Amino acid sequence: MTLFPDMVRAVLNESIIGRAVSAGIIEINTYNIRDYSADRRRRVDDTPYGGGMGMLMTPQPVCDCYDAVRASIPEGASVRTVYMSPKGKLFTEEKARELSRYDCIVILCGHYEGIDQRALDLTVDEYISIGDYVLTGGEIPACVLVDATARLVHGVLASPECYESESLSDGLLEYPQYTRPPVYRGLAVPEILLSGHHGKIDAWRAEEAKRTTERMRPDLLFESGDEK
Ligand code: SAM
Repeated sequence: MTLFPDMVRAVLNESIIGRAVSAGIIEINTYNIRDYSADRRRRVDDTPYGGGMGMLMTPQPVCDCYDAVRASIPEGASVRTVYMSPKGKLFTEEKARELSRYDCIVILCGHYEGIDQRALDLTVDEYISIGDYVLTGGEIPACVLVDATARLVHGVLASPECYESESLSDGLLEYPQYTRPPVYRGLAVPEILLSGHHGKIDAWRAEEAKRTTERMRPDLLFESGDEK
């Protein structure tokens, strides 16, 4: 649900997510909130009560759009409605995994100074933020959420191994990866990776994943109070 559906389509129709849509593995529908405005001039915003800068999205188009979205969802489907907001909980790989288990996610994108609180209270299950900064609209955050969540849906990537061994999948960052040539500008690929010895390669990767995490994101190692 957005005022700028073209922004969302431009991103999500491309590459891996676009192919997953074409293959019918996932479905992405954009709803233009403006299409649901009851205003003669299709207005969707107004000044905030109590004064203050900027414009707020009014509740009527948001709620009517939401009703149309809900009416299009098959009965019995599990649904989660998310508002992209800097007030939300920070988006994580764990949250993407959780959302990927729903049949349907409804994503509400705000714009301007945000949305009238009553529309949010009437429609939204949770607020999600993509980081501690403020963007001009929820469209880019929505694309981030869809991309990270859709790639965890069975069949979107070639194999589950693609994400099972990746950064953050087990709470650690990924080990360094190399491809051809074996030596580039004087830098050689670690010999162990050319050895063909899978046991030793797995052990090297596990150790490198831990070292990379210690160096780049030590907070991840102590997140739950005890070292992983
Ligand atoms: N006045 C709002 C506030 O202080 O919380 C910010 C409104 S922001 C300019 C416009 C819209 O962008 C928000 O309604 C939200 O949908 C989206 N947005 C901005 N920053 C975001 C973030 N870090 N994560 C998710 N959505 C964000």
